[in-house]
Amino acid sequence: MIQRKIRVRFAPSPTGPLHIGGVRTALYNYLFAKKHHGDFILRIEDTDSNRFVPGAEEYIVESFKWLGISFDEGTHKGGKYAPYRQSERKEIYRQYVDILLDKGLAYIAFDTPDQLEAKRNEIANFQYDASTRMSMINSLTMPEEEVKSRIDSGEQYVVRIKINPEQTITINDLIRGKVTVNSSTLDDKVLYKSSDNLPTYHLANIVDDHLMEITHVIRGEEWLPSAPLHVTLYQCFGWEDTMPEFAHLPLLLKPESNGKLSKRDGDRLGFPVFPLQWTDHKSGEISSGYRESGYLPDALINFLALLGWNPGNDREIFTMEELIDLFSLEKCSKSGSKFDFKKGEWFNHQYIQMKSNEEIAELFLPVLKEKNINAAWNTVVKVTELVKERLNFINDLWTQTSFFFVAPDSYDEKTVQKRWKNDSKERMQELIDVLQEIGDFSASNLESVVMSWIASKEYHTGNIMNAFRLALVGESKGPHIFDIVEIVGKEEVIERLKTAIVKIGER
Ligand code: GLU
Repeated sequence: MIQRKIRVRFAPSPTGPLHIGGVRTALYNYLFAKKHHGDFILRIEDTDSNRFVPGAEEYIVESFKWLGISFDEGTHKGGKYAPYRQSERKEIYRQYVDILLDKGLAYIAFDTPDQLEAKRNEIANFQYDASTRMSMINSLTMPEEEVKSRIDSGEQYVVRIKINPEQTITINDLIRGKVTVNSSTLDDKVLYKSSDNLPTYHLANIVDDHLMEITHVIRGEEWLPSAPLHVTLYQCFGWEDTMPEFAHLPLLLKPESNGKLSKRDGDRLGFPVFPLQWTDHKSGEISSGYRESGYLPDALINFLALLGWNPGNDREIFTMEELIDLFSLEKCSKSGSKFDFKKGEWFNHQYIQMKSNEEIAELFLPVLKEKNINAAWNTVVKVTELVKERLNFINDLWTQTSFFFVAPDSYDEKTVQKRWKNDSKERMQELIDVLQEIGDFSASNLESVVMSWIASKEYHTGNIMNAFRLALVGESKGPHIFDIVEIVGKEEVIERLKTAIVKIGER
């Protein structure tokens, strides 16, 4: 057989924000495509108009842009097989529906929702299939003229596939191995609806995979039950030779149990399940995103890459290039992966440490701007350097460093109780005088002058330093005190001491 160029697609339905499991699916497709020098396509499967959500497609595109996952073709890029939005391919699908009808491999059905409901009540576990279709209202059970006149009079209908019972359908899944299904378990799925002139997911999905010359369908395990129908459709069209290979990825599981990961788990345990923040257009409800929560895209990629795939050893940190080089479907696991969000935080911490101070400072600038803080670049870099080790998220930067830029507006009560002694007011007053005299306000000089002042007075170093920190920071956290003093600067330090003396006063 001729080797076809590897072509894979990510085919989301724009029904809401992209779930993190979808991001992983797209990532694996991307890695696979790049590894094999193939193409990666973004196709929007928007044939279910009832579930269409405005903004969802733009959200998807923006998410991948942020993550650095690029497509070779797609709705936003165009390409040889355009259009890539299924709602714009209506006419194409209709032709294929007609082929199946002409071949007698599909039929027209008029059963209304009420009639179907009545059947379900009448027959336990009712399924529209070979055993029941001859008792239903369709083109198999009425004369051709009646079908025609019903359609001409504007009656709504659907087209159903005519599944041949008692056949063995085999899927050679690249991850799950051989999966066989008896066709009698399948129902005559609806492929097309006259009400909106649109095909259902199944037909549009396989017609497009065929026309777009997709070689591998890599998708979530929830689509495995659809695969036998898809294989059957390929056979109906006579496309067996170019049928893509299937690879169904294992589920992402809840962090602490075996159920499927859901948005509620994220809300309950405090981690995002969407790449970007999402605002529900109806309820206005805001769901958190990895980007807004201060994750670095590379860290998220690395974390997701290992949720369902491993390189065969214990190594954990990989660049995108390394992932592309090492990725293989054979090394994907069959069983679900627990979504260990703490591990995600760990990855983010590691990636922050790997960045230069300047790179992190760059990410800090928009935050400072938003807070109306005008700090010199050197200061921003210095401050970043001082707290870098403590950062799990880019968003921690502000909480860890705000006191460098703005005076505390309150003092942590517990710290005050513990650290502000009877004589603190007096000592801080003396400290102001000491600081006033210092010309060289570098951390090292400050430290030696202040320390020798404390020694000469025989004061308690801890007491002085704790009260000093409380006055500068508002609580007992932060890096080395003299680093803070140097950056905050003489005037402002003295100002903060004076304020603390007034506000905290005597205890
Ligand atoms: N539109 C389907 C989805 O939303 C695509 C499934 C597939 O990749 O075949 O996930």
